[in-house]
Amino acid sequence: MVDATRCLDTAPIWVQLSDYVPTGPALRGSTRADLVIVGGGLAGLATAYYAALARPDLKITVLEAGRIGAGATGASTGIVGPGLKMAIPVLRKKYGDTLARAAFDASQHGVELLAELIRAAAIECDARPEPHTLAALTPRQRDRMAVHLSHLEQLGRGIGWLDPEELTERAGPGFLAGFSYDNVLLVDPYRLLVGLADTVRELGVQVHEYSRVLELIPARGQTTRLTTTAADITADRVLLAVDGYARDLNPFPHSVVPIRAHVLATAPLTDDQMAGLGWNGRGGIIDQRNYFNYYRMTADRRLVFGGGPVIVPTGDPVHDARSADAVHQRLLREMTARFPVLHDIPVVARWTARAASTQDRLPVVSPVPGKPGVYHAGAWCGHGLSLAVDSAWRFGGFLSGRTDSELPWTQPRGFALPKRALEAGTRAYLRALDIADRQDMRDAVPVTPAAAPAPRTSSKEVVHS
Ligand SMILES: Cc1cc2nc3c(=O)[nH]c(=O)nc-3n(C[C@H](O)[C@H](O)[C@H](O)COP(=O)(O)OP(=O)(O)OC[C@H]3O[C@@H](n4cnc5c(N)ncnc54)[C@H](O)[C@@H]3O)c2cc1C
Repeated sequence: MVDATRCLDTAPIWVQLSDYVPTGPALRGSTRADLVIVGGGLAGLATAYYAALARPDLKITVLEAGRIGAGATGASTGIVGPGLKMAIPVLRKKYGDTLARAAFDASQHGVELLAELIRAAAIECDARPEPHTLAALTPRQRDRMAVHLSHLEQLGRGIGWLDPEELTERAGPGFLAGFSYDNVLLVDPYRLLVGLADTVRELGVQVHEYSRVLELIPARGQTTRLTTTAADITADRVLLAVDGYARDLNPFPHSVVPIRAHVLATAPLTDDQMAGLGWNGRGGIIDQRNYFNYYRMTADRRLVFGGGPVIVPTGDPVHDARSADAVHQRLLREMTARFPVLHDIPVVARWTARAASTQDRLPVVSPVPGKPGVYHAGAWCGHGLSLAVDSAWRFGGFLSGRTDSELPWTQPRGFALPKRALEAGTRAYLRALDIADRQDMRDAVPVTPAAAPAPRTSSKEVVHS
């Protein structure tokens, strides 16, 4: 049995597997730009890409606090699929069918755009079109999925259930029902960002790493001055693409709250272990608990396994490290319960990263009220890889005056609460979700893996510091 207590947090597996160390120079001196993008994640770099294509005449600068890929994108599981966090029935009720359909389509459009971008820019990031299978462990989860599918059907975006054999092949044993979004993209998200940073540099964008923006100060003629510890830059337009890492730069502290998510990655699986999974190892899988597990394979057959409770960071590093450790141990138990054949597999990476969330689970892509020329694109509620690219494309369209770039949702900012109440309310809500899961999981089907080979006893856990 793997002893997770002996593991310490590591860099995301993608960073460990990469031999590329990007080193964009930090911003120096006092300069100006037409557009400054704060944040070198997928939202920021994809916006730089579409803005540079749409307006090659503009001087565009990206400022990243750490290294490219330091945020959620480079730590994500790299499953780029359609869908929004706000449930489709709620979206329809609140905003109507036209908008609900457009929002769902935008999430699919983001996948297509990213596939095209990767192809056009020849970015080597192990991009593979594979299915994303959503699977129910209990009757209640199956019923929720049935509601989701019937609403998609009514919007003209129908998807059928998988038959039981297909479901087991695509997701593994122990699921009652499921369906797949086909043509989802699996990527190595860190190599994607590094390649995208190179691509935008080639398009003339200045990319500065280790350039944390400290303050946005209104300047003359509706421009904005952004300061870092070593420099400042004045811009006509600013895009905040900082998602869960915004800290003091969060323009919506009353509606956008950071949460932390957790992931493990194993050593490469042997042929016996692959055969014993009872799953074909392709695509991305997500179960339908509130605190779902999601998993996928890397190109070299490591299982990347995420999920468990998400945490609202407290700001106390000791407390936050303890809570991350508890979630990682739970994740390990959940991984070995799902795949008993992996009970002694070395865990070579375990990490956490931040995403930003809203109460109603819609992203916040909008101008920042009271700050002329400043925009925000984030709060993807943990499902941002496709939405960030679609929003980036729309921002490029907006800059060039294209008319097809209107946003498919209307909220300028999330539902607002006092900051402390927002954090406390989010914590209470998250605890309630966990309790609901525990009750629901009493009805789960036990996992009985077919033909699991005898466990190996020779592996040793790899402990990283
Ligand atoms: C563990 C985990 C797994 C996930 N898996 C998936 C998945 O499989 N599929 C999916 O669709 N979504 C997934 N998500 C969500 C997805 O990763 C995010 O929604 C998306 O990557 C957000 O991209 P972004 O560019 O907005 O933010 P980020 O990638 O977080 O980038 C923000 C950047 O801004 C920088 N920054 C912050 N403040 C400043 C400042 N003051 N000055 C300069 N720079 C600053 C940060 O350093 C960071 O690099 C996952 C999230 C997590 C945490």
